[in-house]
Formats: sequence, structure tokens, C-alpha cells
Amino acid sequence: MLLAGAPFADAVDRLGAAAVKHAIHRAQDSARRGEIAPEAVAHTAAGLLPTTATTLTSVLNATGVVVHTNLGRAPLSAAAVAALSTAAGYVDVEYDTETGTRARRGRATLAALLAAVPAAEDAHVVNNGAAALALAAAALAAGREIIVSRGELIEIGDGFRLPDLLISTGARLREVGTTNRTVVADYAHACGPDTAFILKIHPSNFRVEGFTHAVPVHELTGLGVPVVGDIGSGLLARDPLLPDEPNAADWLGQGAALVTASGDKLLGGPQAGLLLGSTGLITQLRRHPFARALRPDKLALAALEATLTGPRTPVTQAVHADPTWLRARVDAAVHELTGLGVDARTVPSTGLVGGGGAPGVSLEGWAVRLDERYAAALRRGSPSVVGRVEHGACLLDLRCVPAEDDARLLSAVAAAAKNFDHDEDSTCE
Ligand SMILES: *Cc1c(COP(=O)(O)O)cnc(C)c1O
Repeated sequence: MLLAGAPFADAVDRLGAAAVKHAIHRAQDSARRGEIAPEAVAHTAAGLLPTTATTLTSVLNATGVVVHTNLGRAPLSAAAVAALSTAAGYVDVEYDTETGTRARRGRATLAALLAAVPAAEDAHVVNNGAAALALAAAALAAGREIIVSRGELIEIGDGFRLPDLLISTGARLREVGTTNRTVVADYAHACGPDTAFILKIHPSNFRVEGFTHAVPVHELTGLGVPVVGDIGSGLLARDPLLPDEPNAADWLGQGAALVTASGDKLLGGPQAGLLLGSTGLITQLRRHPFARALRPDKLALAALEATLTGPRTPVTQAVHADPTWLRARVDAAVHELTGLGVDARTVPSTGLVGGGGAPGVSLEGWAVRLDERYAAALRRGSPSVVGRVEHGACLLDLRCVPAEDDARLLSAVAAAAKNFDHDEDSTCE
């Protein structure tokens, strides 16, 4: 009955009947328990309506970790978000409006990728980095051997391991070298008629230090078999701040036949897997049946194009944020909070690239230091603010918080502080 009346009819159009019924039922339950008056059900239910039809909740990332896997990796640029919105409707993703005939899917995205990496002859895009590697293995190495160093057989997270992924395509792994040292002769001895390619994987989420040796791509490309390089993070060109992070242009320049990467790590775009390389190999990949199973949707293609052609991404901005500017923002926040009676201090904070990139690099920054109990309160608040708990304190590192959200972050802290005061008052009673 309530559903038919305003404001619920509008809400049904916006959110769907199930979400609206759920809000009404919760309000009715409250009335039954005597928590609200029966006349207040409609008003209470209206207040319980969600703002959107997704239960995903947007959070302010105050962890200082730029590519935070649990928080969805790369936040998209405004340009990429606008592209997503365009792509949400009917679009010419596979259609030529000029001639009225079918056109190559995602052609503008591929052109943008090739413009960004001129060293690549051709490019292909799949669902994510793991899919890129799986497609390369399935199309080029099923029933044959992939030669790979024992120091590069990595687990990428959540229990998923690249060797298992590669073997699942029907390829065989020929492991060479040891965990800490692999030399070019190890690869050379393993090369034979059964070799499909040498795989060079960038160990993107850990570092081995001490008595170590790994073979650079340019030494592998002289062995007479194709070299496939998994750079991981998706850096397309060199970034001086991340000297040890490989990039696609470099590895292709060193002679790699194919390079694979993720779209939502350092590239700062949507989840996607990039394959860049020779026309021959890319054509083989594109024609393999798996290519259809691994293809990205129009939303990812649109956002990836806008990421490649658009302004500096939020990821690039966060990685390169000026420490002096970060400190000024933190100082301003601390000043304001202190004025509200909150015990807040400015402290140095080490940011990280995170998400499988530049594992040895610490990003110099600053954070608001609060009592540890703020961590849970802020996480559960609105907006949800995710900080970092360190040495018994809650740190809010502003590196990954858009500057225009500083005020929202401050009101979240102020609201949490008020709740603490309130709790303390009630325990005194
Ligand atoms: C992240 C990563 C992958 C997996 O990419 P996803 O986009 O997460 O599927 C594969 N290899 C390396 C080296 C990586 O860093």
C-alpha cells in the first residue's frame, strides 16, 4: 500500500521494488518493537532508502596505499567516468555509423594504446592481466613448453598463482634457475624444439635481496625463441619516481615479442589486460577461441580509451603528490580538528604504490594521527573513511584522498568525535 504513494513510487522507479519493500519492512519492524510510532513508518522508511541501487559503498582511501586491491585498485579519472556513462547506452563499439556496417570492436581503444606505446606493432585487450597471460599461454604454448625462472613463479594474491594459471591452459612449465639466482645459460640450456616462448615475469609484489641474479629481457631475446614479458603494473613508459618498475616500451624495445599488463594498477584505468607486441602474435591471440571468452565489455573499453588519451589519472597524481602540499593539507586538517577539541597531530607517513607494483618504493607523505579507536568508527561512518592503524594510532594519510574531499573527511572525523563524547557522557551517568 505504501509502495504506491509518494515518495515510494519514485523510489521504485529509481531503486527497484525489492529495495523499497526492504526499507518499509525495516521501518514496520521498528514500529512493531515500539521503537517508533506507527504514524512514523512512512517517514522512517523514506529515510532508510538507499541512495543508489548498488550496495557498493564509496569510501575515502586514507591508507596511503595508492593501488589498494581491497578498495578496487585504481580510482578512475573524471574523463574515464564520463566515458563509462556514454558507453552505458547503445554505442558504436562494433559498428561504423558512416557505412552502417560492423566495425572492429574497441578500435579507438586499440588506437589509443598503440599511440601510447609506439614500440608495439599491434595490441589486444582482455578482461584483466591474468586473462592476458592465460590467452598468451593458450594460444601460443598449449601442449608445448614455457621456460620461466624459479624466481618469478609468483602468487598474485587471494591464493591465485601464475604457474597454476599457465598450466591450466595446457602448456607445460619448464622451470629454470633457483629462487634467488637465474642466469642466461639456464634459459639457453632449456631452449629446444618444444619451446613455445620464454616468459619473463616482473616480481611485482615482493623483493629478493642479497645474493641474487635475474636475466634482463635484452639478454633473453638473443636465444632464438619469442620472449613474452609480464610487466604486471601497466606502466607504459618510464616513470623516474619508480626506477625499478618495468614498462611496456622498454621491454618491447629490448626485443620482447609480447608484453602483458594490467589496466587498473599504475596505468590508473579500468580492470583490463593489455597485450602489446608483434602483429603475428597478436593476430594468433585474437583468433584463439579464448579471446571471445576473455573480451572486455564496452564500459572497460571506453574507460580505458579515456584513461589513455585523457588527463593525468588519480593514480599518477597520488603517486606523484608533492609532500609539501600533502603536509599543508594535513596541517590544515589537524588545526581544524584541534579547534573542535579532537586530539589530532601531524605525523610523517609512508605511502605505497600497492596492488602489485614497485614493492620497494616508499612514498614520502604525511598523515593526521588520531586515537586508534577512530579507525573502526570512521570505517563504519558516512562517508566511510579507511585509515591505517599503526603503532596503536589511527593514521589518515591524505595522499589518495582527493583534495576536494578534505572537508568531507573532516566532518567524518568530527562526527566520530561527537559520538565518542556522547558515549563517554552516557557511561558517566
Ligand atoms: C597483477 C599482476 C598480474 C595479474 O593481473 P590482474 O589484472 O590482477 O589479473 C599478473 N602478473 C603480474 C606480474 C602482476 O603484477
